Amino acid sequence: MNKKPYDPNNVFARILRGEIPAERVCDSKHSFAFYDISHAAPVHVLVIPRGEYTDFHDFTSRATNEEIIDFWKLVDTIAAEQSLLPTGFRLISNIGHDSGQEVFHFHVHMLGGAPLGPILAPAQK
Ligand code: 5GP
Repeated sequence: MNKKPYDPNNVFARILRGEIPAERVCDSKHSFAFYDISHAAPVHVLVIPRGEYTDFHDFTSRATNEEIIDFWKLVDTIAAEQSLLPTGFRLISNIGHDSGQEVFHFHVHMLGGAPLGPILAPAQK
């Protein structure tokens, strides 16, 4: 599991402070959503909490219930607003080293808008 302390200068923290531009999708009291700069599907939205959490485990174990509910309700709102509900979509959250997590501010990728293919390539032996 990720043991890194939260870095307040990570790219998503800087987006939240308005120091780096991002294409806003929508936001709520405790959460913010914007388009991924390098989209991997026709719709590729990143949803982040405003609070300082490095990953899913950090968020789920330390955030308040209000923050957690706010976050997942925003994901669901975006799914509806981006017209992802009829055709389906995928949620991904990379957590720690083995996942290849690059930005250590908890985030969920929302991917959709076209068939996405298998979730993973077959594991190498
Ligand atoms: P991770 O690998 O940590 O799950 O995903 C990080 C994501 O952040 C990547 O998909 C990457 O394209 C996206 N990203 C990195 N820097 C920026 C940025 O400055 N702006 C936006 N909108 N997305 C970014």
